[in-house]
Amino acid sequence: MTDKPPTTIGACYACKRGFAYDPETVTLFPVDPETGLPPGMTVLGSMREPSPEALARAVRKPVCPDCVRKAEQFKEASERAADPSAGWKTWTRGDDG
Ligand SMILES: [Zn+2]
Repeated sequence: MTDKPPTTIGACYACKRGFAYDPETVTLFPVDPETGLPPGMTVLGSMREPSPEALARAVRKPVCPDCVRKAEQFKEASERAADPSAGWKTWTRGDDG
């Protein structure tokens, strides 16, 4: 392992901002160039099993650390909302006792 500084410049897939990254450690996001969306994601935003063709033509785009952090926060928030037992009852519990 070498500790070389990031030398590759690219545009973030999510925010289109240019940023410097190390191709070995950057978060890459597979995108189907035909739809501009991740393989398996429909234009309606729903997910389905990606076709082998979509996976084969998918290219991996870099995502900047800002967007990775936002995506992680969004994922956490949606997981909390999707799971009623996680942090939900603390504020929906009524005083009916
Ligand atoms: Zn970004």
